[in-house]
Amino acid sequence: MNDTPTGETVELLRQLIRNQCVNDGSVASGQEARNSDTLRAYLEGSGLDIDVYEPDGAPGRASLVTRIEGTDPAAPTLCLMGHTDVVPVTPAHWTRDPFGGEVVNGEVWGRGAVDMLNLTASQAVALKTLARRGWRPRGTLVYLACADEEAGGALGAGHVCKRHWDALRADYLLTENGGTVTAHDGQLNVTVHVGEKGVAWRRLRVKGTPGHGSMPYGADNALIKAAHVVTRLAEYRPAPYVSDLWRGVVAALDLDAAAKEALVDPSRVDEAIAGLPASLARSAWSATHTTLSPNMCRAGVKTNVIPDVVDIEVDIRTIPGDNEDEVRRHLDKALGDLSEEVAVEKLFSKQASVSPTGTPLWDVLGRVVDRHYPGAKLLPRLIVGFTDAPYFREHGAVAYGFGLFSRALTAEAMSGRFHGNDERIDVESLALTTQAWLDTCELFLG
Ligand SMILES: [Zn+2]
Repeated sequence: MNDTPTGETVELLRQLIRNQCVNDGSVASGQEARNSDTLRAYLEGSGLDIDVYEPDGAPGRASLVTRIEGTDPAAPTLCLMGHTDVVPVTPAHWTRDPFGGEVVNGEVWGRGAVDMLNLTASQAVALKTLARRGWRPRGTLVYLACADEEAGGALGAGHVCKRHWDALRADYLLTENGGTVTAHDGQLNVTVHVGEKGVAWRRLRVKGTPGHGSMPYGADNALIKAAHVVTRLAEYRPAPYVSDLWRGVVAALDLDAAAKEALVDPSRVDEAIAGLPASLARSAWSATHTTLSPNMCRAGVKTNVIPDVVDIEVDIRTIPGDNEDEVRRHLDKALGDLSEEVAVEKLFSKQASVSPTGTPLWDVLGRVVDRHYPGAKLLPRLIVGFTDAPYFREHGAVAYGFGLFSRALTAEAMSGRFHGNDERIDVESLALTTQAWLDTCELFLG
């Protein structure tokens, strides 16, 4: 089966996992040139021109681009994009070697198996399969295997979109990560991600007055002030955001009618979420609110010195429409009178972005899904994390997160494996995804 498209996807995925392109957020990490070399070696010899881009000052952070040129300049260009980096692991918490790429009981194991070397590999296999056939489509097919997605993508998709857009010129993008199948009242739904929340990472600096730890009475201790700041951030409840996308998601949930009604009523949604099972509540809350999570804190120099400065880092994820000013308003509201005590520094910002459904590509994805899951409907969703898709939306492209997985790989299993322990994917899902890219390219560009 090694020379079937699925067999090639399995083998390529195993190699990409073994290359261990772990991105810890530092410029020296990742070293995606290893995966880019593997992909180049795989794609070479099928008549494709391959370009590799590396930003200045970031050696080894390579992104690869190749394309099958269309015959009709008026036809659309579709880009398949996969990232080649993965997040770090704690090997002690894994049942198997996270970088072994082992195949056990029909599953490929390793960091990146679902996020997202599976898609990166299957996209490359689809492209090569089409190139080998001498396929001459009307529209152009582009493949981008990019570095650095796990740290925001500035050295990968961000760099290529900003500096080498000419190599992409995509009207449409498919990337991570839809394709999970859910069933409700006999209706199958396949998720397609059409948008994502924004990111606003902020550092809050709280100041005090230093003093001797033996005399704390009446002291201006920055850490005590910071503790109040953290508590207020944790207790803050921004107004809910009930969109059509959310209504669609709720309609497909396995809940009774009354619970569903409450979940789409802005005056009752917060209370309704509180009554849901924990994991559903967590995702429902993030889908309907801007969230503020204080995740890092640095303070103090010595046990007997009252600290005069504390830095708190807050991971803020914004709903569509919340811009930089709105982020500031959220912080001011959350902190109340403490707001004056806090200096806010911007660390990283990205606005929420959403692509429309009802495009020609949307119709094609519906047909592709129907071939494998007859009668299934596409379920558009807003994702609460971030991907590289916004770099393309900034250029006016319509971007979706797609893929196609087996019924066995449930949305719940999927989310547990994302950045989690024992990350793995079943070969059936790899077969479905590989075929889905092939079908999509042929129907959309053919
Ligand atoms: Zn990813």
